[in-house]
Amino acid sequence: MDENSKKADIKILDNVRKALIKNHFDCEVFLTVDEAKKFIVNKIGRNKKIGMGGSVTASDMSIADILTRNSNKVYSHNQKMSLEERRKLWLKAIDSDFYIASPQAVTRDGKLVFIDGNGNRCAAITWGPKELILIAGKNKITRDQDDGLWRARNIAAIKNNIRLDKKNPCVVSGKCEDCFSPERICNIVTILWKKPNLTKVTVVLINEELGY
Ligand code: SF4
Repeated sequence: MDENSKKADIKILDNVRKALIKNHFDCEVFLTVDEAKKFIVNKIGRNKKIGMGGSVTASDMSIADILTRNSNKVYSHNQKMSLEERRKLWLKAIDSDFYIASPQAVTRDGKLVFIDGNGNRCAAITWGPKELILIAGKNKITRDQDDGLWRARNIAAIKNNIRLDKKNPCVVSGKCEDCFSPERICNIVTILWKKPNLTKVTVVLINEELGY
């Protein structure tokens, strides 16, 4: 990337950081995934319970493996688990020391946009874990809440439908059709306008394209 674009992107992320702090979130900006990973691993330390919110961003960063090697207990579901297995795991994840997830959008005025199919992640980011670590690459920055919701449905959801091998209409048309499909993955919207009162929240912004 040329130096001018890099400088502009850093300026934008820094403005988003200020907006998030105004909304009572903690926020750190990193230039690279490696720097962000180091920060998260150091912040969590050892012997903690960690819930994972099915984040492609966190999975791209291989965070769960590192945390497990550091004697942490990581609750992370996979598609091979039965519904009952996933349910039990999500209940443990919500009662964690740290919960790691990635919003589908971070707005320039410091709001965090999430859309879920099942709602386990939307539940956990609202209340339960002692501390949230919410990671987002620069590709998740949107102008405002409406733009964030548009991004969640017309960019993130389509990629997630393909990843999860869902046969929803957006996979064919390339845009959200606001479907009535039983496999629909956009059923619950949670927007953190401000930090939830009882949960510490750190937003980790990274000046790289990451996740969906
Ligand atoms: S078509 Fe359905 S599954 Fe696809 S993005 Fe829209 S609401 Fe979500």
